Amino acid sequence: MTKSLYLLQSHKFGNENIEATLACPKCEEIFKKEFPLDLEGQITEFKCPVCNSASEADLPSKGLEQKEEFEGDLYEGGEENSEEIDED
Ligand SMILES: [Zn+2]
Repeated sequence: MTKSLYLLQSHKFGNENIEATLACPKCEEIFKKEFPLDLEGQITEFKCPVCNSASEADLPSKGLEQKEEFEGDLYEGGEENSEEIDED
């Protein structure tokens, strides 16, 4: 018994899902399908929307792409006390 795997043609990450373009190993049709972000980097099984036979898809992982967006925001407002205050 061999499990068939959809071939990932391309993908992009949205705010709430992964939009993947996949090719079915059974009927060889190419289709687009959206997956929840929870499934990133995982293998998921579903039925081909064209021929209705079940295969697995190896979903991409967002990983490093996301981390770069947050870089630089960590030290916001850190150096406000450089002026000496001499009250009294
Ligand atoms: Zn198919």
